[in-house]
Amino acid sequence: MSAVLVINSGSSSFKYQLIDMQTETELASGLVERIGEASGHARHTAAGSDRVEQTLPIPDHTAGFAVMLAAFAASGPQLSTANLVAVGHRVVQGGSIFQGPTVIDDEVLAQISALSDLAPLHNPAHVQGINAARAQFPDVPHVAVFDTSFHQTMPAPAYTYAIDTALAAEYGIRRYGAHGSSHKFVSEAAAEFLGRPLAELKTIVLHLGNGASACAVDGGKSIDTSMGLTPLQGLVMGTRSGDIDPAVLFHLHRKAGMSIEELDTLLNKKSGMLGLTGNGDMRDVEDAAIAGDAVAQAALDVYYHRIRGYVGNYIAQLGGLDVIVFTAGIGENSGIIRAGALAGLEFLGIEIDPAKNDPFSRAARVISTDDSKVTVLVIPTNEELEIARQTLAVI
Ligand code: ADP
Repeated sequence: MSAVLVINSGSSSFKYQLIDMQTETELASGLVERIGEASGHARHTAAGSDRVEQTLPIPDHTAGFAVMLAAFAASGPQLSTANLVAVGHRVVQGGSIFQGPTVIDDEVLAQISALSDLAPLHNPAHVQGINAARAQFPDVPHVAVFDTSFHQTMPAPAYTYAIDTALAAEYGIRRYGAHGSSHKFVSEAAAEFLGRPLAELKTIVLHLGNGASACAVDGGKSIDTSMGLTPLQGLVMGTRSGDIDPAVLFHLHRKAGMSIEELDTLLNKKSGMLGLTGNGDMRDVEDAAIAGDAVAQAALDVYYHRIRGYVGNYIAQLGGLDVIVFTAGIGENSGIIRAGALAGLEFLGIEIDPAKNDPFSRAARVISTDDSKVTVLVIPTNEELEIARQTLAVI
């Protein structure tokens, strides 16, 4: 047996998962949160056992990793016998530097830190987490797996914004995309599920969670994606606006006196379904729409309109389409939203079968009709496993 520990660290929390790489199954998972607050919280679940929770002060990430190690020691599995071969770290922004998973040394860490300008909420927190994890696990390689690197195959016309090229070059302004581990995992899983060569498939992945993005995958390579310089661009999300005319910002600044900080908060934290309905949780919006709430239904219609626009765009960019895959919290769980998003696309050969789409299931499955030219799938994403696979591949 060999195991990889996957770490996803934020500024005041980190999630972890220990994965057995022979069977690709989860051995344990957990969360350490409210780091630096008066009272921290940790939970740990060893596979097949009950979740163990504790509340205690956790002053910094280093203390957080000590809490995680104590949880492994107390509730298992024992890390000393798990044959831990590497630690894989999720990193949101790899810029144009990191084309794939990369073994972390001091220079790589400095580069991840230097990319913080492009991901101010994420990269500094990853650096903190990586530092603490390297201190706790000094004897195994640590690998950075970037959300952006799957999209490094995008051609220049897809990633270039039509602005002054000198400014763009100086400030690293281009489309980078995100959710790369999910888009990669799901597009490969789709080919495997269908028993067809990845190299032959034209696929659109719709990752619909709190954050949401679409990706056009041609023969296993990302050729376009809806998120941009940051994860703000593209689809309508829980609290993010997605695509918007940038002039809206100038207008609100000039007319409403809003500052850059206020506009940042508006578009990232107070828009999307939250802005449209007052509630950013899609389950609640869906329930309200079913109960006849016109505001919720109107918001869903905006959500669907945006997805359909990207599907049409990506069919054109791909020059055809074989597969659409739904994934993440909303894509995996809501038949109503899957059907709503693709409604009216039958003329493109995209036909959902209600008998397959409506019943709830956790399994990978086909939801299109037998006659549908495009196969529509639901495939549960597994970003942790993808990070673990990429980690193992590079050590
Ligand atoms: P994150 O981007 O935080 O990883 P997830 O992929 O977990 O997000 O997705 C969270 C979203 O999925 C929430 O908006 C939640 O309401 C939504 N969701 C989960 N289950 C359902 C469901 N049955 N119907 C509609 N939305 C759902």
